[in-house]
Amino acid sequence: MARVDHAVASGTFSLDGETFEVDNNIWVVGDDRECVVIDAPHSVEDILAVVGDRTVTAIVCTHAHDDHVRVAPALRERVGAPIMLHPADRPLWELTHPDTTWDVDLADGDTITVGGTELRVLHTPGHAPGAVCLYAEDIGCVFTGDTLFQGGPGATGRSYSDADVIRESIRSTLFTLPEDTVVHTGHGDDTTIAAEKAGMTD
Ligand SMILES: [Zn+2]
Repeated sequence: MARVDHAVASGTFSLDGETFEVDNNIWVVGDDRECVVIDAPHSVEDILAVVGDRTVTAIVCTHAHDDHVRVAPALRERVGAPIMLHPADRPLWELTHPDTTWDVDLADGDTITVGGTELRVLHTPGHAPGAVCLYAEDIGCVFTGDTLFQGGPGATGRSYSDADVIRESIRSTLFTLPEDTVVHTGHGDDTTIAAEKAGMTD
């Protein structure tokens, strides 16, 4: 039976010459035997504490802002799993990791199978050009990274972001999911598709 495990890691986010303190969610999906890690913020040890003694089969990045990918190569070294990223986020990835690359390109509609469940890749550009969400229909949840938070769309004020594009991604992709789908976000608390649909009126 697939399950979702969670922790919070603290660190920094830098872009456009500014640095901010941030808390990032660590999401781990799988069963008692194997799991997928969604995003690799700040600390390998914090992530491994959630993984436990399970086999990590993939490190899936919702986008390549440094607070989501900083320890992805170090985690890959420790667990031997491939890093997956949408290739449209190459410019952001290279800001953080100019000397190494990811292993597997994600594309809209891909499925990642782990622990008897499936994660479907939804390309949702806007916060970042290669931003993706991961929909786990079996367990009724979607991992949205920084595309959709409790309270609305992710930030679009910095380089490589676009406010019109993120709203279109949310409307045309996330808001077509079942209303009771639980939204596990990149920062902060969970929400649901229904709650965010009700809140996003324009
Ligand atoms: Zn971000």
